[in-house]
Amino acid sequence: MNVYEVIPRVSPEAIVVYCCDPRFQTAFGPFVESELGLKKGQYVPLVVAGGAGVLANPDRLPNEFEFLKNRFELFHEHFASIRRLVLINHEDCVYYKTLAGKIPALEEYAAEPCHWPREDLTRIAQTFDRLLSHLGWGVELYYAGFTNGDRSQVAFDRIRV
Ligand SMILES: [Zn+2]
Repeated sequence: MNVYEVIPRVSPEAIVVYCCDPRFQTAFGPFVESELGLKKGQYVPLVVAGGAGVLANPDRLPNEFEFLKNRFELFHEHFASIRRLVLINHEDCVYYKTLAGKIPALEEYAAEPCHWPREDLTRIAQTFDRLLSHLGWGVELYYAGFTNGDRSQVAFDRIRV
């Protein structure tokens, strides 16, 4: 029987939300560790399809929003050590390609789906200010965009809104 180590006691400083797209998993982990300075155990990874984009439309897609809000509140209650919320979106996100078909009110996503993962970070910041500020966390927004033609590398831009 194989055994695996866990970390017996943790005081995570941050929640990091990013997409489960398998192409990007080799980038997200090292980014969080090297650029955000968070080792495993120091942050709560919330890995969901669409990443931070799940927070962009709380009024039009309330179930999506509530899903993450409930997890935030759960961790807020459980870990008083959390001070940072890191929200990451990425280029060519499949979640965004499906948004336009979800409800007619989201048809703006059909026009230029490729620019929305970055554009939406503004809406996501507004969602936090309007509906999640009671958590008292500092929000950091990042966009992972491809840096080469064959789409094998990304860099992370900090987006300030
Ligand atoms: Zn994605």
